[in-house]
Amino acid sequence: PRTFFIGGNWKCNGTRESIAKICEEFEKGPSVADAPVEVVVGCPFIYADYTRDKLRKDWTLAVQNCWVGKGGAFTGEISAEMIKDAGIPWVILGHSERRHLPELKESDETVATKVAYALANGLKVMACIGELLEEREAGKTQAVNERQLKAISAKLKEDDWKNVVIAYEPVWAIGTGKVASPEQAQEVHEQVRAWVSSNVSANVAAEVRILYGGSVTAKNCQELAGKPDVDGFLVGGASLKTEFLDIVAAYKAR
Ligand code: PEP
Repeated sequence: PRTFFIGGNWKCNGTRESIAKICEEFEKGPSVADAPVEVVVGCPFIYADYTRDKLRKDWTLAVQNCWVGKGGAFTGEISAEMIKDAGIPWVILGHSERRHLPELKESDETVATKVAYALANGLKVMACIGELLEEREAGKTQAVNERQLKAISAKLKEDDWKNVVIAYEPVWAIGTGKVASPEQAQEVHEQVRAWVSSNVSANVAAEVRILYGGSVTAKNCQELAGKPDVDGFLVGGASLKTEFLDIVAAYKAR
């Protein structure tokens, strides 16, 4: 069985004060040290050390981006080596905001290069994929996910996949309050797993965690978690609230 996985994505939010406060709230939830769930919170770079200090010790830390390759003359960037050196195990890559915001516009190729470089440097990766609303309406959901996955997969060895979780995040559901139905999520997760089976290996397909992301809340997480190919969540807005504890507890719905 795949261990349930709950990622939090704080995005560009938080202050020292608010982080200390939410971490204190998170302490009130039951220990998951021996539970079949892994919890990883993605904080802004600048607060990584601070968050690690405040965050409960049975959860771990991620950051939300890294540079495509080795550090050097790349002003303002942070390399995978630095993230590793700072003792942060995880990085979120290919988030739809980084793929689609006009100021960022990361291509499939850029995302894939980052994923491969981060893995080669000992980080674990939450690799995000997902279609825009117009792509879903045009019946292109599967094609878009497969294109994004193919770019990543082309740069990885089979063994790399043990350090990857895939986050399926339909862009129309992110931060909109419009959640995919459990059936919609299951349908796509099943397609993603089938693609991995045919294009990577049956073993990787059986083992890789596929998270759903997009307006996950304490209210809708139970039903989503009950779907066989939904192995957890990547949670944005609700990961900044105490409600995140209820989402973590959704592993029990498995
Ligand atoms: C996200 O940022 O990955 C996300 C899914 O956001 P939200 O939960 O707020 O929709």
